[in-house]
Formats: sequence, C-alpha cells, structure tokens
Amino acid sequence: MPKAQETILEIDLNALKHNYEYLKSQLQNNTKFLAVVKAFAYGSDACEIAKFLESLNVDYFAVAYNNEGVSLRESGIDTPILVLHPQTVNFNSLVENCLEPSIYNHKILDEFIETAESKQLTNYPIHLKFNTGLNRLGFSKTDIDSVVSKIKATKAIKVKSVLSHLGASEDLNEKTFTQNQIKSFEDISTKIIGALGYRPILHLCNTSGILNYPEAHLDMVRSGIGLYGFGNSEKQNKNFKPIASLKTVISQIHTIHKGESVGYNRGYISNSSIKTATLPIGHADGIGRQYGKGKGYVIINNKKAPIVGNVCMDMIMVNITNIDCKEGDEVIIFGPSTTAEQLAETANTISYELITGISQRVKRVFLK
Ligand SMILES: *Cc1c(COP(=O)(O)O)cnc(C)c1O
Repeated sequence: MPKAQETILEIDLNALKHNYEYLKSQLQNNTKFLAVVKAFAYGSDACEIAKFLESLNVDYFAVAYNNEGVSLRESGIDTPILVLHPQTVNFNSLVENCLEPSIYNHKILDEFIETAESKQLTNYPIHLKFNTGLNRLGFSKTDIDSVVSKIKATKAIKVKSVLSHLGASEDLNEKTFTQNQIKSFEDISTKIIGALGYRPILHLCNTSGILNYPEAHLDMVRSGIGLYGFGNSEKQNKNFKPIASLKTVISQIHTIHKGESVGYNRGYISNSSIKTATLPIGHADGIGRQYGKGKGYVIINNKKAPIVGNVCMDMIMVNITNIDCKEGDEVIIFGPSTTAEQLAETANTISYELITGISQRVKRVFLK
C-alpha cells in the first residue's frame, strides 16, 4: 500500500469483513445481526461502512441519534435503522426517514404515539428498551402493564423488538451481575410477549455479550467494537483485525540541545541533546493532551517514538533520538501492530474513546 503523505485514517474493508464473519460464526444460523454504526461507525465512516455491511446482508443498523440515521438514508442505505437515543424534537424527521425509535420512557412513548397518530401511520415499528441494571436508559419491569396498554390502545405503532443493554459484559468478574441482567431480561420478555400477544425480536448482547454469553444471543445481537476490530480482551483481540490505521508523516526534524525546551509552556526541557520530529496531528485531530509528556507514542520505522511535551492543537513532537528517519517518512499512530487499544491504555482510556475521537478533518482512505 502507498505510504501516507499526510494524516490519514486508513480503513481496511477486508478486515471489516473478517470481523463480521468471525462474529457471525459465533452465532446460531437464525440469529440476526445488528451492526452498530453510531459515532461515524466508531470514528471510521458510517456511510461507507454501512454500505459495505449492507452488501454483506447485515439485518439491522443502529445509530445513537436521529441525524446519524438521516445521513445513512441520504447515502442510500435501505436496511432498517434503529435510533437508540431519539429525542422528541426530531420525531418528524425520524418518521420521514423511516428510522425506528428505541422507546425508553413514558414521555417518549406518549409523544411518539401522538406523532404517529397525527401522521395517520399504522404499525410503525418501535423498539422497547428496558433497564436491567445499567441504569442509563429504559423502562423498568413495573412499567410493562402501562406501556402495553398504551400500545394496545393505538393502531399507529407496533413493537418490532424488545431490548436491554448489558453493563459489564466484558468483565468476567461481574458474571453474576450479567447473569442477573440476562435473567431479568428473560422475565421482562416473557411478560411483554404475554401482554402483547405476539413475539417481537428480542436482543440484549453487545460485542462482549456475544463473545462471553452465547446463551443470551436470543433473536438478534448488536455489535459495534467487534466489527471495528476489538474484542475487549487480549484473548479475544486475536480473533479480530483492527480496521482502522492512523498514519501521518514527519514534517520537520529538530535537534534540541541540553537546557532547551519543546512546545507550549516549555512542556519538555531537555537534559541532554535529543532529536525530535514534528508531526501534523494534534488534539484537534483526536490525540488528546493526556497523551502528551511521554505517555503516548507513535511508531517510526518500527520503533517507538514517545510524544515530547504538550500535545498542540494541530501538531505533536516526538522523540526520535535513536531512530533512523528523515522528513517525509511515514509515521504510524495506531494500526494492526500497535493497536488503538494499546495506545489508549497509555493515557488510561479505552479503544472506544480513541477511535471515536478521530476528528472529521482527518482524511478517510478505504482499502477494498
Ligand atoms: C453502543 C451500543 C452497542 C454496541 O456495543 P459494543 O460494545 O461496541 O459492541 C450495543 N447496544 C447499545 C444499546 C449501545 O449503545
């Protein structure tokens, strides 16, 4: 592949296909697959990723917010799209774009029924979200009767699925907690099906749920991070291929003499003679200040070059004292060799935060 000549996020669609097929191989044949493409498909590119996954016959997409779903529709995606966190202010747009809301409280339910009735819709698909322990969004078990009676009183909407979300599926020390969530969701589902008189799609598992709780795959699973190449454990990561590589180039090399400083606020003061390389990527591109002052590093000609001093808005400086390199050489911030997960750990964060934070000014380049 050609060497980077500017800062790029290179996205390998073959790796995406590999991850999708690996996840599918963990499922029963009839379990549906929902691909979570919120947050620009975890920082890659939601429309390109969704188009590719649609060509692989994925069953469903999910986004967090309405405008993310609208962008997918505008780029020609026809697959059903679940909006996990809809806001009432967007209900007209949501319906006009055939997006399906996750309904998590009575306020949203009442207002969505009002919208659907005013538009004279029939059987518009909605998804009922229940809280089973994450305590973030969702009805509680005690809401079932009141929710179902509102739904039965209108022809405008129909329950397409019932879902909940696991709070600690990657943490095997929390197995009892997760098993309680699974049990609680089973109780809720049974009660809902009885009250509605039909069986909606039931779904509970995110990526780590898929990998760690096969008994809870139910009718559909929802995967985000796994598609993008992370299994949330050293053991599981081996089965995945990170799809995104963040690359840049060396803009300039400096020799820093003993006593001289590098960067804003003299964030680094040298106590010997060193060489630094200035790179065209900074906190505005998604490399936060927490990676500065020696915590984060990049790879140049297969060697680690730690970040020197403070991260600037558009640039970082890295220590290349012991690296044979020149201006214009390619630099790897993360990729298959040092992964986003490893880099994220240097700043006490997780792959999810690093990859979703790569800003839109970084050019996305697709390998097909
Ligand atoms: C983001 C999200 C997911 C995807 O989780 P991963 O850990 O990335 O697989 C699934 N379900 C819900 C409700 C989410 O918000």
